[in-house]
Amino acid sequence: MVAELIAVGTELLLGNIANTDAQMISEKLSAMGITVHHHTVVGDNPQRLTEALETARQRADIIITTGGLGPTYDDLTKQTICKTFGRELELHEDILEEIRSWFQTKMGREMPENNIQQALLPTGSTIFDNPVGTAPGCAFEENGVHVLMLPGPPFECRYMFENRAAKYLEKLTDGVIVSHEIKIFGMGESSVEEALREPMTKLTNPTLAPYAKLNECMVRATAKAETREAAEKMLAPLVEQVKETLGDVVYGVDVESLEAVVSDLLRERGMTLSAAESCTGGLIAKRLTDLPGASSVFRGGVVSYTNGVKAGVLGVPEELLEEYGAVSEPVARSMAECCRRICGSDLAVSVTGVAGPDRDDRGNDVGTVYIALASEGGTLCRKLSCGKGRGRDRVRSAAASSAFDLIRRQLLGLEV
Ligand code: ATP
Ligand code: MG
Repeated sequence: MVAELIAVGTELLLGNIANTDAQMISEKLSAMGITVHHHTVVGDNPQRLTEALETARQRADIIITTGGLGPTYDDLTKQTICKTFGRELELHEDILEEIRSWFQTKMGREMPENNIQQALLPTGSTIFDNPVGTAPGCAFEENGVHVLMLPGPPFECRYMFENRAAKYLEKLTDGVIVSHEIKIFGMGESSVEEALREPMTKLTNPTLAPYAKLNECMVRATAKAETREAAEKMLAPLVEQVKETLGDVVYGVDVESLEAVVSDLLRERGMTLSAAESCTGGLIAKRLTDLPGASSVFRGGVVSYTNGVKAGVLGVPEELLEEYGAVSEPVARSMAECCRRICGSDLAVSVTGVAGPDRDDRGNDVGTVYIALASEGGTLCRKLSCGKGRGRDRVRSAAASSAFDLIRRQLLGLEV
């Protein structure tokens, strides 16, 4: 099955917003084993939308549109699709009632007349009711081509894809498609591909595919079978094989992120963490506190960006700062130890480095980062080169990820 996505919205063409709906849907389609060959973006213009639909129906089995299902004059998706595919719009009284009551209960006001439009759907459609907004989506089949319409607002689009469209699409593909994501930190995509070339190129079901992500990469194992159990049975040995081949750079399977793994490890052990951050500017604390329930494992931290705060708040000895400079092993160690003491945590991590764009005054190259981890048993420190030449953001996010990986390795007793 080949799918094509058509995003409708002039704002997308003007660059006011990014086409995140297409990214989200593509990711999910690929996990379902449905290939995407084209993304198209058109403005709120019926003629160009018609052209895009005519092209898509020639080359795709599934067309998914996003946007333009709203109640305003520029929302033309359904009308245009109906014209192109020779259907009529028909009023659904039950949906109209749902929209009316949505306005009364959620918005506390009467439904504007315009919204009647949203209860008009192409004849013979499967309706995707929308409990998180007003515009329902829908789908129909015409000459072997399936056309699915989803609302544009990202939250609604995601909900409607996951809970409505995915079920519709699953029925089109006979059997079930199951996939597992093997997350990797500390090995580049090309090395991963090299190590797994055999299975990646030879296997057809299950399959193995690499994906590069920010500072890390992932391998997705996908199997298609009659039942979920059968698919899982095909995947289990493959996932094991990948873990065995790559070793401890695999930080988890189907896990959210490195920080989520660290947070779970800390929780299991009843341990707490704190962070003294210089070049990461609070990113470690941010990424940990993005996770629900962070307070049980993360006690807090200090963004000690200047020497004044490193000495005055954390208590790093001035002599160390003078003798070795802020970006140095002795200072990183001291930051972690001081932080552990003042925050009263079991572990404390520190990061000090050069985010760029220029070298520091001691000649440390951009991307030079010292990460230290203090615990009851002592302090360890690593010097790394993170994200050089890719801008401040990349240096910082790579440094934060490296810090999380160091903590993960320490907690699991792996080589650091
Ligand atoms: P509404 O009922 O809100 O009008 P709609 O289905 O008509 O929904 P649009 O009017 O096209 O959708 O878009 C509504 C908002 O959703 C846009 O202002 C934009 O912020 C967001 N949006 C639309 N399409 C996309 C997309 N492809 N990716 C990300 N955001 C989008
Ligand atoms: Mg709209």
